[in-house]
Amino acid sequence: MLEVKDLHVTVEGKAILKGLDLTVQPGEVHAIMGPNGAGKSTLSAVIAGKDGYEVTQGSILFEGQDVLEMEIEERARAGLLLGFQYPIEIPGVKNIYLLKAALNAAREARGEGEIPAPEFMKLVREKSAEMQMDPSFLQRAVNEGFSGGEKKRNEILQMLVLQPKLAMLDEIDSGLDIDAMKVVANGVNSLRSADRAILLVTHYQRLLNHIEPDRVHVLVDGRIVKSGDKSLALELEARGYDWVLEESVA
Ligand code: ADP
Ligand code: MG
Ligand code: MG
Repeated sequence: MLEVKDLHVTVEGKAILKGLDLTVQPGEVHAIMGPNGAGKSTLSAVIAGKDGYEVTQGSILFEGQDVLEMEIEERARAGLLLGFQYPIEIPGVKNIYLLKAALNAAREARGEGEIPAPEFMKLVREKSAEMQMDPSFLQRAVNEGFSGGEKKRNEILQMLVLQPKLAMLDEIDSGLDIDAMKVVANGVNSLRSADRAILLVTHYQRLLNHIEPDRVHVLVDGRIVKSGDKSLALELEARGYDWVLEESVA
């Protein structure tokens, strides 16, 4: 589904990703772990098509399509979606209108018509209940006055409504207490399906106690230096990142 090959990326002239390879198949959950500043957020931002990143070498294919040739909106319509690391506020735009507009854009891209209003309301109510979000959140401006935890829930709500083919979640667990993290993790788990892949970017292992990844990758200094199954995350929790680095330069 996603094939990243020899990806080199610079930001403001500085090399951040330095030959990164990653292959993700439908149905899989991949965790990208690594120390601060390794390039984890850069990777998801480049795949999603955010501004400010220059790809100097390598390729990204999504379902065989050249992602680097696609605008950010085209990527989203193709089913490639990044949640917000620091979810933005959109004053004056109600959460529910943003969700509906985004969903209808996604449906249009799939050749489906607009979702009928009653069906949409049912879907959104069901998914917000799943995220333990009070329905009043839907009527508020996007993320305005939301707490950190509420923004994260809202981010997962968006994924649950839009149902992207590839969901990328960057530091979805940061700043959450244990109860909020469980709600968020349950939401992510309910996103899992045979035709969807999930890329979880996380500095900490604790989220992976609640979301079991199929593959764990360690990103250090712009490259994936080690990959393994979920036991690698436990090993990182116990031993930190330094040994991986030492192993990789040895
Ligand atoms: P991670 O998510 O693994 O902590 P990032 O991808 O956020 O790492 O950042 C990798 C490196 O790129 C860091 O050294 C960071 O300072 C730098 N960087 C990221 N974004 C920018 C930017 N917009 N301008 C300048 N440097 C940046
Ligand atoms: Mg960082
Ligand atoms: Mg980051």
